[in-house]
Amino acid sequence: MLDFYTFKHFQHYPHLQHLVTTKSSKMPYDFSLALHTGENEKSIIGNRAILQKQLQTTDTLHFIVANQTHSDNIQVITEQETKGWKNIHDAIEKCDALITNVPHIVLTILTADCVPILLYDKKNHVIAAIHAGWKGTKSQITTKTISKMKHTFGSHSKDIIAGIAPSIGKCCYEVGGDVAQHFFHTPQSFTQINDKYMLDLPYLNKIQLLKSGLSEEHIEMSSHCTACEVDTFFSYRKENGCSGRFMSMIGLTPSPTSINLLGIRP
Ligand SMILES: [Zn+2]
Repeated sequence: MLDFYTFKHFQHYPHLQHLVTTKSSKMPYDFSLALHTGENEKSIIGNRAILQKQLQTTDTLHFIVANQTHSDNIQVITEQETKGWKNIHDAIEKCDALITNVPHIVLTILTADCVPILLYDKKNHVIAAIHAGWKGTKSQITTKTISKMKHTFGSHSKDIIAGIAPSIGKCCYEVGGDVAQHFFHTPQSFTQINDKYMLDLPYLNKIQLLKSGLSEEHIEMSSHCTACEVDTFFSYRKENGCSGRFMSMIGLTPSPTSINLLGIRP
């Protein structure tokens, strides 16, 4: 049985599919789901096929994978199509946030320490998935994604709920002044230790959500640190530049899902 991390408040919406994968030592490459990191392509595509089967829906799903580059580029997906799922060459190019209101589409984000953020506009049925490392956080990719949801789909902040998935915590994310200086405007986001800084990327993205008008009770923060919990999640830092990645995903399906039947981590 595979284990997944899920958000409590997304589970109130039966047409919303979402999950965050975890490591499994029984699967090839500990159940890494990335095609861009040099593992055997066939094995990774096999892992993805098994993951797809876990989403227990009768609907045909189309998975979208982006070629993430720590940019603030945001792509709106407008048609039912599969991109980057079975073949890295048709992944969405140079993109770190995906938005859609098209059913049957599942938006995915691959990470090992960076912050994955999933959004759902429960009124207009718009979803988004964001990849925010320090560069994306610095360039306000979360704020920009919400702006794009508002401009493209008429979303209102009060209707958007957010999940901030497991990522490296302030406990483990040490950076130099060259990185920390970009966040000096938010003193609560770091602790200085001599000439180093412990930076809180999940918190900085939560601040972007709050400043975009989301209410605090609509933001669910994972308390899991990928580096502290390296047996469960891939951590680039903790594993000295590991190549594995776990996947966070969100999608809309016409049929209610039965994801709650799966082995969910608390
Ligand atoms: Zn930690």
